[in-house]
Amino acid sequence: MTAETKTLTVIGGGPGGYTAAFAAARAGMRVTLVECESLGGTCLNHGCIPTKTIKSSAEALELAQNAAAFGVRIEGGIHIDPAAVLQRKERVRSILCSGLEKTCASLGIDLVRGRGRILRAGLVELIGTGGTRTVEADNIIIATGSRPVELPGLPTDHTHILNSDDALRLESVPSSLIIVGGGVIGCEMACIYRAFGATVTLVEGQDRILPLPSVDEDISALLQREMKKRRIACETGCTLTNVTTGPDGVHAALAASPFAPAGAVPRPEKTVRAEKVLVTVGRAPCTDGLGLEEAGIAADARGWITADARMRTSVPHIYAIGDVLGPGRVMLAHAASAEALCAVADCLGKDTGRDMAYRHIPSAIFTSPEIGCVGMSERQARDAGHEVKTSVVQMRELGKAQAMSALPGFCKLVADARTDALLGVHMAGAHATDLVAEGVLALHLGAAVADVAAAVHAHPTLAEAMGEAALRMPQ
Ligand code: FAD
Repeated sequence: MTAETKTLTVIGGGPGGYTAAFAAARAGMRVTLVECESLGGTCLNHGCIPTKTIKSSAEALELAQNAAAFGVRIEGGIHIDPAAVLQRKERVRSILCSGLEKTCASLGIDLVRGRGRILRAGLVELIGTGGTRTVEADNIIIATGSRPVELPGLPTDHTHILNSDDALRLESVPSSLIIVGGGVIGCEMACIYRAFGATVTLVEGQDRILPLPSVDEDISALLQREMKKRRIACETGCTLTNVTTGPDGVHAALAASPFAPAGAVPRPEKTVRAEKVLVTVGRAPCTDGLGLEEAGIAADARGWITADARMRTSVPHIYAIGDVLGPGRVMLAHAASAEALCAVADCLGKDTGRDMAYRHIPSAIFTSPEIGCVGMSERQARDAGHEVKTSVVQMRELGKAQAMSALPGFCKLVADARTDALLGVHMAGAHATDLVAEGVLALHLGAAVADVAAAVHAHPTLAEAMGEAALRMPQ
């Protein structure tokens, strides 16, 4: 069978699903894409894009508040207009969503509004508002994503106890907010709501914020210091217990976390109160009613679908990509898109020998300051047996950072001392989420630190941080 005659049904229209649908259609496959809510998935509707749009409003507010430092006088008060922020967020969402719809139309993709359910390999039931029908497909890709989970003792009521979806549609800024979970989403929300004027307490069970193996410990420490300057209280090694809600908000106790490292000094329990609590801990797979069991598709004990390195599930010709694979893979939009391309290549029978490569997937964290990481942290490199050398350049050393008054942050390179191979790039500072792209390319091409040092970086730019760090790396 040729690529032209192959058929594909994709269930879920997030960054995994729509990337798969577009790539397959461009390669000549006949594609059905079924989406039960809005194209763009969590990323466009409740995740990446809404948070970054609202973060832009927070940055505009901070810039206006700080305008005098740039010699700009603003007469009158400066304040946030939550309704206008939400309207702007909706405008951005709708522009991008209609762009996806137009691309579906231009590529001849059959876009079905409804739920997909797998009856067996090769057959999907489409349950839409206009009725139910079945579609046959040579291949099926599951891209149904994930949703927020509730913590025991912290049931979401969407009024006092919120999840991340709620936090992106608040019509007013709470006077005080406790955020449970100091991971990426919790830290981003803390910076946004603090900029908007809320008193923010960030509660994290581990002994550092951003406690992810790929995030270098120096980055966590810098962010915690910067949060302190912004008067965000970081309660690490803690958990929130005895939570009660009432007309005056949420009352709870801060107690030592069961995840605190052994030997940590026990902290006395203290009571806390806030107008709202935002829970940013954990996600669950969206697989209800998908027909996994009936079709014999294997999942792990927590319900995340299992797949091999080419995204093939336990059932031939059924693939799974994106968040629905769970935290054992990488739960990021660009990882979902990369997995989509890997799955489509396999559907097309392209034996390029290309398994999904997870080693150099960057993290872009939109805190204040921003963070961009790719490759191994210093600890990961040591644990992997490398003899490690590092080089750090502070952002404040750069002319462009001084011109922008964007002083906090640094660029840290992690390399193998024996071979000079670049192993990791860890940046904090203005535009770090964009600047990390140079590190991604360098790692992808297998560059040595000397290669980065030999590349000329334009002056005055923030990108000089990486060039300078490479030049200063011990030989
Ligand atoms: P999703 O985007 O979740 O899409 C799945 C789609 O499938 C949904 O539209 C859903 O309605 C649909 N669906 C589910 N079941 C069915 C069914 N049976 N039939 C039909 N349709 C179905 N990642 C980043 O890379 N950068 C960021 O800055 C970032 N920020 C984030 C901020 C927040 C607050 C959150 C919550 C997440 C963030 N993420 C970010 C993570 C990112 O959103 C996800 O990794 C990404 O959306 C996963 O893509 P996906 O295609 O696997 O699933």
